[in-house]
Amino acid sequence: MLKYVSCKMSFFTASTLLGYIAIPLAVSLVVFCAFVTSRDVIPVITVPGTFHFYFLNFLVLFFSFNMLFNFICASTFSKRLGTGMTKGVGGWRGCLNPTTVASPETLAELERIASEGLQYNATQRRMRLLEDPKRFCLVCLRLKAPREYHCKVCGVCVCKMDHHCPFVNNCIDVENNRYFFLFIVWLGIGTFLDFTIPGYAYLTQRRYEQRVEALLYSRRGPQSVRAPYGAKGAQLTTFPVFLALVFTGTIFVCMLLFLYTGGRAMLTNTTLIEHAVVEDKIEYVYQSTQYAYRSPYDLGPWRNVIEMFRTPGDPVVSYLLQEERATPLRLQSFAQYCRLVWCRVLTVGWVALPPTLRPADHDGMHYPTFDSEIRGESEEMRLVVS
Ligand SMILES: [Zn+2]
Ligand SMILES: [Zn+2]
Repeated sequence: MLKYVSCKMSFFTASTLLGYIAIPLAVSLVVFCAFVTSRDVIPVITVPGTFHFYFLNFLVLFFSFNMLFNFICASTFSKRLGTGMTKGVGGWRGCLNPTTVASPETLAELERIASEGLQYNATQRRMRLLEDPKRFCLVCLRLKAPREYHCKVCGVCVCKMDHHCPFVNNCIDVENNRYFFLFIVWLGIGTFLDFTIPGYAYLTQRRYEQRVEALLYSRRGPQSVRAPYGAKGAQLTTFPVFLALVFTGTIFVCMLLFLYTGGRAMLTNTTLIEHAVVEDKIEYVYQSTQYAYRSPYDLGPWRNVIEMFRTPGDPVVSYLLQEERATPLRLQSFAQYCRLVWCRVLTVGWVALPPTLRPADHDGMHYPTFDSEIRGESEEMRLVVS
């Protein structure tokens, strides 16, 4: 038993320690790849001072900034309601991650949500809250909100917990989910470009060097072989460039997997925990019926994207959503279709492209569901009514 406890403890300690090592490692990886591309590759494959030269350097800066910004935000921000105790979580981890005590209003609201959930029968409960409404956290000593789970590494309950990511040393939750997803997107596109463009130049230069070598040892007379990148081309096959290519290629492949899981979670408004623990169980239960299971929080792919990214009272999002509502439900012409697509492109561009420090539009206790939408409890519905 003691052995099991100490093994478990060392796993969580290792996860926290890995986080402290992983953050500087990830930052230096991004900076190293950007530096090598900018110093060794771009001046060789383009002519310095031309449009291409500045454009490629701008791309390197743009992607590096977006990656680092979203990475730092994902490792900094989180949504926690606090514990029910008068003091924070104890131990050395408690000192490293001081937690706040939940306010009396929060505790009262958690009690209200739980007692409201208990009024429903088992089937309705499953449809509304996914699980037992009166869940109690034995570490934080308070009721858990819907979609809230206790993270053993952070030592606190986390709102809409997705997973604990050792690479950002933080839980991916309702607050930093959007930063984490954007980090993956920028890292995915950035490493793809940083792998393919210098990778092509590396291979071209390598082929040229092999041909020169072959000619040196052949018995044929002197022949001319054109150097694809001139005398500076030798810079392309140095060890730092090779190392940067290995890093970017590996990270790109990993990001493809992360993009798939993150994108699926975003479009269905589920978390990894809900997918693994709750959905699989419910799907199994639903197998014996003719109904298909759908998470009560899944409002449709488009609304789910907005739910993840929106910030409170964003006038641009409200305006674009109103514009979208102005288009009829049944599209009658190609122009209407174009208008809808254009509105959505602008909305996604606005919420995802400019770096923002605005908090997410969630209190960590209430999430819109099918039936709250139908009853007109969400902001959108209120806007339509007024
Ligand atoms: Zn807890
Ligand atoms: Zn955590």
